[in-house]
Amino acid sequence: MGLNQLTIQQAHDGLKKGEFSSVELTKACLARIKKRNKDINAFISVFEKEALVEAKKADELIAKKKQKALTGIPFAVKDAICTAGARSTAAAKILDNYVPSFDATVIKKIREQGAVLLGKNNCDAFGHGASNENSMYGPVKNPHDLTKVAGGSSGGSATAVADDMCIFAIGEDTGGSIRQPASFCGVVGLRPSYGRNSRYGIMPMASSLDTVGPITKTVEDCAIVEEIIAGRDELDATTVSDEVPKYGRKFSAVSRKLRIGIPKEYFNAEGIDKEVKDIVEKKIKSVKTQNFASVEFVGVSLPMTKYAIPVYYIIVPSEDSSNLGRLDGIRYGVRADADNLYDVYAKSRAQGFPEEVKRRIMIGAYALSAGYYDAYYRKAQKVRTLIIKDFEKVFESVDILLTPTSPFPAFGIGEKKDDVLAMYLADIFVAPASVAGLPAISVPAGKTKSGLPVGMQIIGARLREDLVLNMARIIEKLLN
Ligand code: GLN
Repeated sequence: MGLNQLTIQQAHDGLKKGEFSSVELTKACLARIKKRNKDINAFISVFEKEALVEAKKADELIAKKKQKALTGIPFAVKDAICTAGARSTAAAKILDNYVPSFDATVIKKIREQGAVLLGKNNCDAFGHGASNENSMYGPVKNPHDLTKVAGGSSGGSATAVADDMCIFAIGEDTGGSIRQPASFCGVVGLRPSYGRNSRYGIMPMASSLDTVGPITKTVEDCAIVEEIIAGRDELDATTVSDEVPKYGRKFSAVSRKLRIGIPKEYFNAEGIDKEVKDIVEKKIKSVKTQNFASVEFVGVSLPMTKYAIPVYYIIVPSEDSSNLGRLDGIRYGVRADADNLYDVYAKSRAQGFPEEVKRRIMIGAYALSAGYYDAYYRKAQKVRTLIIKDFEKVFESVDILLTPTSPFPAFGIGEKKDDVLAMYLADIFVAPASVAGLPAISVPAGKTKSGLPVGMQIIGARLREDLVLNMARIIEKLLN
């Protein structure tokens, strides 16, 4: 087994015992990137020299017995998240030359724990997409089948973890961008509750939905990283000050019966792939028969589920169109040559944004405009409240919900690219928790006959990442 294949826990222990150095571990990841990135396209930037300098420093700290939770462990970051002194393009040419002067809060916390930054991951530009085909740096390919998409928008981060190019990664999830690529690539991805992790330094897409979270090889690793990055941040007023539970502690059986809800809308959905449904249902059955940690299953209904996609695709473009206004070729990034100010804006944006970003800005500007605001944006916000209430009601009788993460496994590159609605519908199972601000994780549940990973989604009540992670540990255990 190569060092690059290790989990955080294994790498931490190996470094502690002196079985290998951080320089060796970092070199193993860099070698894997060199070998595989040309096929997979998971990285937009790789910081080889800087990473090796950081690794050497980590080794010195370990030698002095000053090892922290992530000291010397190489990680990768979605390119829509700011990293100090390290180019951050969000996979859009308008930011091709943008080097932030600061770290996003979650990155700062990870680096304070000693992790080594390897590079920045390809993604759909500014997080817009479900296949990673909306990157201006080329699509990301699925390591399980290079003719398939990696999922999106954090596809580069999910593939980097799945293909052992790094030990863990940090992604961003507005409407499924951590969970869906994690499910397509066979890794673990956690979207925290809105307000649990600081959004400071995450390039904003839809400010009332954006979250940032870990993509890892195991649930244990996911818990370790989430425990580090969660918590109140003075730089993000939407973060909650509730104490962060000890997610990283080893699983011990839940103290009382865990009530698991199976929402029928996610299993009867139109267009759900039969193999996906079978794999997820089989996994649920195996939890039942093992009677693991004393669980109780309850069939539930979330009737508002069908409105999540229409609501999401009004609110997100609206907030998008306002957030992306700051990118004008003047304040950040690449400026187009033109004779007057208006043309500088227009040309910089025309050249610097891919088609999907332009589409979102136009839809959003329309939905927010005078005369249409009430019919679209305000209406969507009202329905959003109904979706939140739907979940609140269900969580009175169950602790968590189990669903498939995606209605289908990874689809072919180019297959949905020109069918915008089909691409939006790919978010059908991940959008509801996003709209409601709830925590949700995707864990591997099995593989299709053709070898493509299938993910299971676990949704929790607000701020119940602890229960979500505990259930994920059960699913993971059953898979091994
Ligand atoms: N597919 C979603 C979208 O295109 C994913 C967005 C996200 O979570 N960043 O909006």
